[in-house]
Amino acid sequence: MLRVTFLGTSGATPTKSRSLPSVSIEREGSVFLFDCGEGTQMQMMKYGISPQKVKAIFISHMHGDHVIGLAGLLRSMALNARKEEISIFIPKGYEGGIRALISFDKAMFGYKINVIGIPHRVSKLLDGKDFAISSFPLKHTLPSSGFAFREKDRRRFVKSKYEKYKIKGTDFSRISKTGKLKIDGRTIALKDVTEVVKGKAIIYASDTRPSKATAKASSNASLLIHESSYMSSEKDLAAERMHSTAAEAAEVARESGVEMLVLTHISARYKDAKPMEKEAQEIFPGAKVANDGDVISL
Ligand SMILES: [Zn+2]
Ligand SMILES: [Zn+2]
Repeated sequence: MLRVTFLGTSGATPTKSRSLPSVSIEREGSVFLFDCGEGTQMQMMKYGISPQKVKAIFISHMHGDHVIGLAGLLRSMALNARKEEISIFIPKGYEGGIRALISFDKAMFGYKINVIGIPHRVSKLLDGKDFAISSFPLKHTLPSSGFAFREKDRRRFVKSKYEKYKIKGTDFSRISKTGKLKIDGRTIALKDVTEVVKGKAIIYASDTRPSKATAKASSNASLLIHESSYMSSEKDLAAERMHSTAAEAAEVARESGVEMLVLTHISARYKDAKPMEKEAQEIFPGAKVANDGDVISL
């Protein structure tokens, strides 16, 4: 199961109810963080995300609201005796800035910190056994990356099929490993007794103008988390500052055929997010504006 927790849903500046950008995705005991705004470690405590389980942190771009939380989070991990290495991904060219932020006071870290540059094109960043995380380019005032967390498709045994072939006991692990099995002189292929379960995909796009690259990455995904700094009443400002309106984010979701749209990176000017949610729902029914602490299980 994939568990998505919205740790911070504001943009640029925090408010009383919204912390700065960060989203966690948990899968089988591992945590992956997407952006790490100021206060992320406090939000993790509040919402029960263990810093020691974080395997990698993906930073969309080098604006302070997305990155300043790294300095504190990495220090707390060290003070809590972390030994396991961690990888931090940042658009290429900003690796030095990240290293400077991490080590400005010459803090001692008892674990290895890998800082890895992300090319400004679709790239695979992490390839796990059952899932992969890749990046795609966004359109912002400086190089910015979107991220796609994709589970791989897997095969599931179907009772009506395997009973027909009299598969039982250790046969299951054998056919899973080798892809075929011989029973009573008859060869059975894995596909004869299983069905494909499509992997789930979560797309994170912040900060950005609406883009074809996001729509393409989100094609048939389960969840698109898209920035929505403004409403359409501020669309000129959104264009000038290279952000998106709720309507623009909803257009991207509609174009991509994604199942679910959640808006985040909400400007502090909107005290009530309901009108923004409504604006998006007119284009993409079911769209939601995220609040800090919201959890989505997929
Ligand atoms: Zn931002
Ligand atoms: Zn930005």
